[in-house]
Amino acid sequence: MKALMQDRPLLISSLIEHARHCHPGAEIVSRTAEGPMHRCTYSDVHRRSKQLAKALQVLGVRNGDRVATLAWNGYRHLELYYGVSGMGAVLHTINPRLYPEQIVYIANHAEDAYLFFDIGFAALVERLAPALTSVRGFVAMTDRAHMPALALPSLLCYEDLVGAQDSHYEWPLLDENTASSLCYTSGTTGNPKGVLYSHRSTVLHSYAACAADGLAVSAAESALLVVPMFHVNAWGMPYAGAMCGAKLVMPGPALDGKSIYELMRTEGVTLALGVPTVWLTLFNHVDTAGLDPKKDLKLDRVVIGGSAAPRAMCARFESEFGARAVHAWGMTEMSPLGTVCNFLPKHAGMTTDERLDVLARQGRPVFGVEMRITDDEGRDLPRDGKAAGHLMVRGPWITAGYFKGEGGQILDADGYFDTGDVATIDADGYMQITDRAKDVIKSGGEWISSIEIENAAVGHPAVAEAAVIGVAHPKWQERPLLIVLKKPGKQASRDELLAFLDGKIAKWCIPDDVAFVDELPHTATGKLQKLKLREMFKDYRTRST
Ligand code: AMP
Repeated sequence: MKALMQDRPLLISSLIEHARHCHPGAEIVSRTAEGPMHRCTYSDVHRRSKQLAKALQVLGVRNGDRVATLAWNGYRHLELYYGVSGMGAVLHTINPRLYPEQIVYIANHAEDAYLFFDIGFAALVERLAPALTSVRGFVAMTDRAHMPALALPSLLCYEDLVGAQDSHYEWPLLDENTASSLCYTSGTTGNPKGVLYSHRSTVLHSYAACAADGLAVSAAESALLVVPMFHVNAWGMPYAGAMCGAKLVMPGPALDGKSIYELMRTEGVTLALGVPTVWLTLFNHVDTAGLDPKKDLKLDRVVIGGSAAPRAMCARFESEFGARAVHAWGMTEMSPLGTVCNFLPKHAGMTTDERLDVLARQGRPVFGVEMRITDDEGRDLPRDGKAAGHLMVRGPWITAGYFKGEGGQILDADGYFDTGDVATIDADGYMQITDRAKDVIKSGGEWISSIEIENAAVGHPAVAEAAVIGVAHPKWQERPLLIVLKKPGKQASRDELLAFLDGKIAKWCIPDDVAFVDELPHTATGKLQKLKLREMFKDYRTRST
């Protein structure tokens, strides 16, 4: 029997329509590329994204055309999120931290029709333009007074385009499975691959982000998006924000510790989201400036994802900021939300140490994400919190295939996607990543988790950042090598660090050696570049070999 419920499509335009009616005055605060702070509301974003949609029509942008951005977090970028997808085109957010050749590859692969850019990227755009074969026009996201002087034949001004239109525009009633946005994976190996989101997947993902056991975003929130809008849609917050009416605070290009701290203070930020490396920068600023975050800030929760949240980082947010660390895991292919580490009633009354043990896990899947772990033959492994296997996921906001069929068929017979992560799952559904499959250290037939060792090592007061890789060993095949970046002015010897790890991890997982470096390589999304580290240390022989 067919049900008798209305069949309204789940559309991105309905999010901004809802915000306009129900949260018209909720603020969007941005640090602009031009310098000053800018304040507007969802009502303004609604009006201007309609003006933008009309302007795109005038430019000849049609359903399905890709419109690219090279931009930091800010209100104009938010208008593009709604204007481009809302009118039926596809928003392609490009990571400006990629190598120029990668940007060219991505833009050409996506066949971007227009490129919108922050004026800070003007020189980069001018350099890349001749190689961008499909781009018909370049739009500087600024007003006439700040237009960069560029030798580009088709240079347009964002405010001129938007200002030339009124806001009388009806969003098209699209099929909810229409493509809405495109984001390329960071591509640590091979060329980046495109993940093509839909209106439906985006709206469903927003419900999960707002859910109490998701990120619990609400109208009461002042949310600081340190995670960039070019990295998996800033973890979906630009959409979830409009769904629930959260105030959004956008840091623009200023991602240094001082600027982030000031934004948290002046905008009464309650929820902040970012990768571990940005929080390290924040901690450095707090240390050097001798600040008292508990007194200055209203921070309630900090979402940490993208890489494992080190225990010491969660502890510091709790003790020094009075904020709860919320560990979350996901990936570009998952829009990105997969799991969130929230507590259960049975965790009430736990000691701080026990709470931190729970927080070391990446959390439980939000409803909509099905997970399982398998062995190398694809057999299910037990959910006992001990067996580690390939983490497989399935759900309505998880990719079914890469753009233009790159990588071929990527789902298994049951429709599961292999995340490339290795993890355990316990009886309550808490998942814990032990490694990327390609970073696992195989020692004498056992797997050693590099993440577990890294987490323990950054608990040492002299360690700013730690990376663990496997190095060749004649007897054990591989043994862990701990690579350490020390905090400025702090000292720690090899033996002291190894002694520190004793008792914190299993004896046979203790690294054979420690190497000290002045810098650790990161990818364009802030992850440790283990591939590069393995190259750097490929001839390394530990002291025990
Ligand atoms: P990306 O697609 O760039 O967001 O990268 C996704 C990958 O980042 C995942 O497959 C994980 O390997 C890693 N990752 C994301 N969040 C976490 C986390 N909380 N802990 C450990 N690894 C993470």
